[in-house]
Amino acid sequence: MDITYRLEQKRKVLGDFPGPKSLELAARRAANVAKGVASSVPVYVADADGGVIHDVDGNSFIDLGSGIAVTTVGASDAAVVGAVKEQVEHFTHTCFMVSPYEGYVAVAEKLNQLTPGEHEKRTVLFNSGAEAVENAVKIARVATGRNAVVAFDHAYHGRTNLTMGLTAKAMPYKTGFGPFAGEIYRAPMSYPFREENPQITGKEAAERAILMIQKQIGADQVAAIIIEPIQGEGGFIVPAEGFLPRIAEFAKENGIVFIADEVQSGFCRTGEWFAVQHEGVVPDLITTAKGIAGGMPLSAVTGRAELLDAVHGGGLGGTYGGNPVACAAALAAIETMDTQDLRGRAHEIETTVKRRLGALRDELGDGIIGDIRGRGAMLAIEFVKKGSAATTKQPDGEVTKKIAEYCLKEGVIILTCGTYGNVIRLLPPLVISDELLADGLDVLEGAIRANS
Ligand SMILES: *Cc1c(COP(=O)(O)O)cnc(C)c1O
Repeated sequence: MDITYRLEQKRKVLGDFPGPKSLELAARRAANVAKGVASSVPVYVADADGGVIHDVDGNSFIDLGSGIAVTTVGASDAAVVGAVKEQVEHFTHTCFMVSPYEGYVAVAEKLNQLTPGEHEKRTVLFNSGAEAVENAVKIARVATGRNAVVAFDHAYHGRTNLTMGLTAKAMPYKTGFGPFAGEIYRAPMSYPFREENPQITGKEAAERAILMIQKQIGADQVAAIIIEPIQGEGGFIVPAEGFLPRIAEFAKENGIVFIADEVQSGFCRTGEWFAVQHEGVVPDLITTAKGIAGGMPLSAVTGRAELLDAVHGGGLGGTYGGNPVACAAALAAIETMDTQDLRGRAHEIETTVKRRLGALRDELGDGIIGDIRGRGAMLAIEFVKKGSAATTKQPDGEVTKKIAEYCLKEGVIILTCGTYGNVIRLLPPLVISDELLADGLDVLEGAIRANS
């Protein structure tokens, strides 16, 4: 990496926070912003660059969350900033469905080229991950003439009606928001740490899901199987080797569209452009968002030309989909990922983090660390009640919360996730410096020790 940071890359917390300016903003927020939107941290952002977030009171936090896997290239990457400035000076919007422009086409070309598979592809652009997922399902239904959609345990696909239906976890995502869309079925996931039979292979776990699909739905009724190659909100669950390839093969044998939801795992996050590439899986459709555009809202469905082109003209779109500023940002972000070798950087981060956390687990013995998993810079620790890691594996959401709170107090922003709320996920910007990452990990280790 060869990066000049605009802000000093240092953690600095000035005693107690939130400070006065953040408190003032919190009061204005409480009086005006819907309570349903929650924030992980109580401070308000003034600036962000590389691996740091500066708040309005002069504190500097280490960012190990990237705004949920979005700012892979940093929150103010010079190339992205330059491309955005250049674009807004010309036009901010014309609507691709009214008067089209090159940026949209260039992003489609890029995605068709970067996504796995040598087949002919097409891309359509949207704004959010949920919108991409909804449209992938629309495309699969039109192309197959079938209705049923299969999602998995622990899945997260978004907060719109259809994607809430696809999402597994009730609180906070679904509770009270029903009724949900029909024809959605849930299959068992491969979750190596929590398998009843720890010997079960990925292929066997896939056969378990396939049996459920055959018996409860009928393979010839299924339009699409949608899966996150590494589950995000559900707990950074990496399915056992062989699971994804067998599910993809089953889909192919039965004319089912295999959709990889790479909204969180895509764009260098796991050390490849896309997480399916770790097992050589070629999806029929792939949904992307989050890391795609350096923080600007953009999402996409990319896949087999015959699937996307099965939809009638005018059937896909949206006022803002593929906004020109977001497209300019995406092209610049992808360029940065390439020139800074951020795939290689994700591998380096994985090596560093796994080495340190592995040593800590050894040191703590049969403590609260149940599992350390993930790929690249999409890494997680699953916490269990002390002493239960090898036996009952009782999830410990309380200790997880305490560890995240300790980290925040020391100036490190860390996100939690998981069906049982007992997973800490590490999603640093890939442009984070070695020194800053090491400092962040020192704090995390201190937090785990203090709660062990
Ligand atoms: C975040 C996420 C979504 C939803 O994306 P939004 O942009 O929040 O709508 C969908 N799928 C996965 C895997 C995600 O992580």
